[in-house]
Amino acid sequence: MTERNSKNVWVFVELREGHIAPVVLELLGEGKKLAQGLGEKLCAVVLSDGADASLAEQLGEYGADVVYSVESPLLAKYTTDGFTTALTELIRNERPEILLFGATHVGRDLAPRLAARINTGLTADCTSLALDEETKDLMQTRPAFGGNLMATIRCPEHRPQMATVRPGVMDKAACDKAHKAELIRVAPALTAEDIRTEVVETVVKKLTEIPLTEARVIVSGGLGLGGPEGFALLRRLAARLGGAVGSSRAAVDAGWIDPTHQVGQTGTTVKPDVYIACGISGAIQHLAGMKESKLIVAFNTNPDAPIFEVADYGLVGDYKEVIESLLEKLGEGA
Ligand code: FAD
Repeated sequence: MTERNSKNVWVFVELREGHIAPVVLELLGEGKKLAQGLGEKLCAVVLSDGADASLAEQLGEYGADVVYSVESPLLAKYTTDGFTTALTELIRNERPEILLFGATHVGRDLAPRLAARINTGLTADCTSLALDEETKDLMQTRPAFGGNLMATIRCPEHRPQMATVRPGVMDKAACDKAHKAELIRVAPALTAEDIRTEVVETVVKKLTEIPLTEARVIVSGGLGLGGPEGFALLRRLAARLGGAVGSSRAAVDAGWIDPTHQVGQTGTTVKPDVYIACGISGAIQHLAGMKESKLIVAFNTNPDAPIFEVADYGLVGDYKEVIESLLEKLGEGA
């Protein structure tokens, strides 16, 4: 869309098993700042098979001024076609200025399809968002050239300005029980013929460990562990501290640990209270995913390893010796 009668900041509300995905609260926090900067409203958009009043109430408490509830039995489950068609219609009718998605599997699938459909730009995987002081255009910043520099991208000619934002990067919106959203229910002109795929079954993977984005302590390992057995030691420390195990990409590439543990630019972005890096050099792409941790502790045999530049506490030495003595001090014999 090239018309400039657009207004308001929208956040796409991804639902998981009927619950709001955590990244949505982060988008609402950032969206609120943008909406205040524009002097406009923050709107949350939910697509489902029926309005859930408690959901709208919750979105209001996290800062949404308006909740659009787009309802159709055809939206009971996520499909690219169904969600694209229904959202395209709403965007054409309501003309948002900015539209934000989480850079999740769903957000990464839906946002580009939608951007192409409504002829606007999309910046994927943003790590920060701001408004240009003069033009009020959205300044969308993301890593570029293998993470070696940050690029700020704008979309001056088309609306809405669309961005996906990586989970775990922005702060969650504050909850204000007194803040209420206006609920607007919308019936889209969506037919079964619009949807070319059928969701036959959804298989939910049962998590046996704390997800990286929710862990308050992360014990992370890299190539310096020397082999997959090093992660067994890290797991013991993580269990003792009630935390999760992370890794560098090199350790994942070596086949020592599952990719879901990878922290960094192409892995998960984390902001735990404590991040313990063991045998990780501190490449820029790894730092991109953990440098906002509240406290960083590094164990590395090389005193010149870049990880020490971001670490609050560093110990030059063999990770194994350090962790074994830590476990001993914590009351678990190594
Ligand atoms: P190394 O760099 O080999 O470091 C191993 C460290 O272990 C060294 O500092 C060494 O001194 C130390 N060490 C050795 N023995 C011991 C010991 N006994 N005790 C303690 N320390 C010891 N990387 C990521 O992590 N996440 C990403 O998301 C990511 N995305 C990328 C995206 C792109 C486009 C590219 C090009 C690269 C990406 N990388 C990513 C890879 C990144 O550039 C590095 O190659 C990687 O992070 C290095 O992993 P590492 O620190 O485990 O290994």
